[in-house]
Amino acid sequence: MALTPMMKQYLEVKETCKDAILFFRLGDFYEMFFEDAEVASKELELVLTGRDCGLENRAPMCGIPFHSAENYISRLVTKGFKVAICEQVEDPAFAKGIVKRDIVKILTPGTYMDASFLDESKNNFIMCIFKEDSSNVGGLSFADISTGEFYSTSGILKCGNILDEIAKFSPSEIIYNETLEDNLLNEIKERYNISLTKYSNEYYNEEALESVKIQFKNYDSNRYDMEQLRSISSLIAYLKYTQKNSLSHIDTLETYNIVDYLVIDTNSRMNLELTETLRDKSKKGSLLSVLDKTSTAMGARRLRKWIEEPLVDKILIEERQNSIEDLVNNLFVHEELKETLKDIYDIERLVGKISSKSVNAKELMSLKNSIGKIPSVKEVIKPLTSSFYSNIYNNLDDLNDIYELLNKALDDNPSISVKEGNIIKTGYNEEVDSLREAKSSGKQWIASLEQEEKELTGIRSLKIGFNKVFGYYLEVTKSNLSLVPTERYIRKQTLSNGERYITPELKEVEEKVLGAEEKLITLEYELFAKLRDTIETHIERMKSVAKVISEIDSLSSLATVAVENNYVKPTINEEGIIDIKDGRHPVVEKLLSKNTFVENDTYLNTEEDQLLLITGPNMAGKSTYMRQVALLTLMAQMGSFIPVSSANIAICDRIFTRIGASDDLASGKSTFMVEMWEVSNILKNATSKSLILLDEVGRGTSTYDGLSIAWAVIEFLCSDNGIKAKTLFATHYHELIKLEQQIKGIKNYSVAVKEINNEIVFLRKIICGGTDESYGIEVAKLAGIPTEVTDRAKEILSMLESENSSSASDNKITSVQSVNKVVVDNSKEVELLQATIKELKEKINNLESLNKEVAMDMSTSKKTKCKKQENPMQMTFEDVEGKNLLKDIKELDILSMNPMEGFNKLYELVNKAKNL
Ligand code: ATP
Repeated sequence: MALTPMMKQYLEVKETCKDAILFFRLGDFYEMFFEDAEVASKELELVLTGRDCGLENRAPMCGIPFHSAENYISRLVTKGFKVAICEQVEDPAFAKGIVKRDIVKILTPGTYMDASFLDESKNNFIMCIFKEDSSNVGGLSFADISTGEFYSTSGILKCGNILDEIAKFSPSEIIYNETLEDNLLNEIKERYNISLTKYSNEYYNEEALESVKIQFKNYDSNRYDMEQLRSISSLIAYLKYTQKNSLSHIDTLETYNIVDYLVIDTNSRMNLELTETLRDKSKKGSLLSVLDKTSTAMGARRLRKWIEEPLVDKILIEERQNSIEDLVNNLFVHEELKETLKDIYDIERLVGKISSKSVNAKELMSLKNSIGKIPSVKEVIKPLTSSFYSNIYNNLDDLNDIYELLNKALDDNPSISVKEGNIIKTGYNEEVDSLREAKSSGKQWIASLEQEEKELTGIRSLKIGFNKVFGYYLEVTKSNLSLVPTERYIRKQTLSNGERYITPELKEVEEKVLGAEEKLITLEYELFAKLRDTIETHIERMKSVAKVISEIDSLSSLATVAVENNYVKPTINEEGIIDIKDGRHPVVEKLLSKNTFVENDTYLNTEEDQLLLITGPNMAGKSTYMRQVALLTLMAQMGSFIPVSSANIAICDRIFTRIGASDDLASGKSTFMVEMWEVSNILKNATSKSLILLDEVGRGTSTYDGLSIAWAVIEFLCSDNGIKAKTLFATHYHELIKLEQQIKGIKNYSVAVKEINNEIVFLRKIICGGTDESYGIEVAKLAGIPTEVTDRAKEILSMLESENSSSASDNKITSVQSVNKVVVDNSKEVELLQATIKELKEKINNLESLNKEVAMDMSTSKKTKCKKQENPMQMTFEDVEGKNLLKDIKELDILSMNPMEGFNKLYELVNKAKNL
């Protein structure tokens, strides 16, 4: 049996887009056949039918009306499918045989531009990886076709580097070359839910290279290596293959080096909750949610990018700081600026729509209104003195010519559809004006005809109406039919309660009106397309302006947050010192009621204070503190102000975190395996400029294994030939506290708690010195574990502790005996051992007297300076409570209290003071 001609055509088209679901246009429907129909019917809940295709079995088929296709396409693309749209590409009236059809667009997760699919505050990147399996050299490229951005990098790209870049750009689609190593591919599949497409190495050819040269206005053949060119050209080729248009807005190739930005690996991005929370992946509760006070969608995307790509160049960081400071110091200017920015639409995405020719008149109107605000923005920032603003004031293109053109051509309230007329402003085009005149005078004539005919016939209820089938008609009700002048009226339609008629004069005028209307629609569409194409030639200018606006908006957002939350401009250093006074966690402080967050200091460097070993009970605030240090460093490198009373922040090259138990069961790795994998990644990649957070390393295995691993990791980080990265290390292994005495660079800290009537009170204050109190059982009690269980736990604990201490003394005896044994055998070693023991005794004595001093200081409430620190970090419990009490008193708003409230407050404060 032979295939029907239509099915033959279908299969030919399908052959060119095997990995996409083919929407094949037949009349008013898009039909899907065979496997595509089976998949689509399941995914879209459509009825699966069949169609004779010339073969023995009917072809499985399902379909959707073309006018509601967007919704179905969006659902498929969101699920990661690609959809190829096949349309009739010739007029059926002129077709010889079966009408010609072709694919007009392929919609994929990384290239889909529908508003319902895109998040306006987020870029939608597609990524291209080029890497040979045997080599470490590679090229990466990223494009967002909704905004026209295109970035590319190359160099030594290990698996980890590529994963970090994926985490940074979070693309929704990745295309990769045939020879990409399996390891990397599997890792990407395991970690991310991203649509992956393998592309043929053939994509890289002379033709592709030539098209890249034409695509980018700033193309410079000497700047790119082979791997980079292959990734760039493959991505451009793929975009052209799917979009089938010129992509004129992708005109600037921005190359970057991975080391130009603070590198934050995937886990750290997740753990620090930069743009979404760990638990429910929502923006609320992330750093972005605190910092994002932008007024425009462009600004929101830029700010997200700044969070994802903090800087490492001191000059650039300080430039941003100064620009924020300028706004902070000029409150009125800032307020006015925010008002002006509010009215600016998403110029970047509008430009993307112009390039893909999908823009409508309403959107061009938004573009006009947005461009119209540029002169106001320039005027508002005029008083600001930092170089960023003065440069904009002096040089920013205000796009006045584009504004004038749009203003002259576009109707002030144009219709959404470009094929309905009502787009072009009166006075812009003579022909449009005269057609409109003809249309409206015809309509007026028809309107006056109603009155005239009423008088002529005496039928008072006579009406003139219009429908698409019969055009204009005169309608007469049944009771008046005897008055109808049958010599003039021609009956056209019978209704249940009357008749509809036409007259030759009415039809004549109707032809004029409808003819004018049809011509007008065509002409207006032509003029609109011409206008759109003229605007398209200015895309580069509009994109530069959009970028500047997005930057101003992001700076304005950071300035707003700084003012609202009392942030301070940090000093930036390149000497490896992190010195924070009264630091707060930017997100946690917002979640707590006002002024209840306890501020903490931090001092880190690459010498004496390189690793802070933080002990303290569960729930005390160790993780919050560590994350706080990382977030403040990251924010400082963004150029943002930070929640501190003062700070000097070192520029870091990378931030690593090993926090929490991130199971990766899907990949077959246990919690402990994941933990070790992450630690190994840190130890292999950290440098002396990195900042590392390690939370309870080793807790996933047996106590001794865990302790030994934690110990060895600390040695590896701090020893003379160690990495020397600044590290915050939280642990419940209290045995590690003694390392402070043995290894240079370690400093013990703990989180203060107070016991009141057998209950623990968390003071959240980081103080000098370690603690060996875990209070695990108390925390379990707080969590609601039944008293029988916690009481029994206490019994077991004291049993274990006493067993431990007796076995420890047994061990001591054993070691002494073994030492004696050695002593008998070797007199030189005796001397050596004796000297060592003497030295140890001296150290213990010193320590004891130091401890006494500390204890005395604490009991007299004197603050003790930690070594190498300018400011005291050690505080007694009374200090902390006293400080809180003072704060409470300072914040009392006496005037707003009635006498009873005042009395109650006083009573509460007196009680607090008594408890100190
Ligand atoms: P665990 O060892 O059990 O993981 P932890 O010591 O890491 O506990 P966190 O998770 O950091 O404790 O903090 C517990 C809670 O304490 C936080 O959810 C936060 O609400 C509160 N908290 C932490 N730090 C502070 C602070 N500085 N001021 C006020 N509240 C805080």
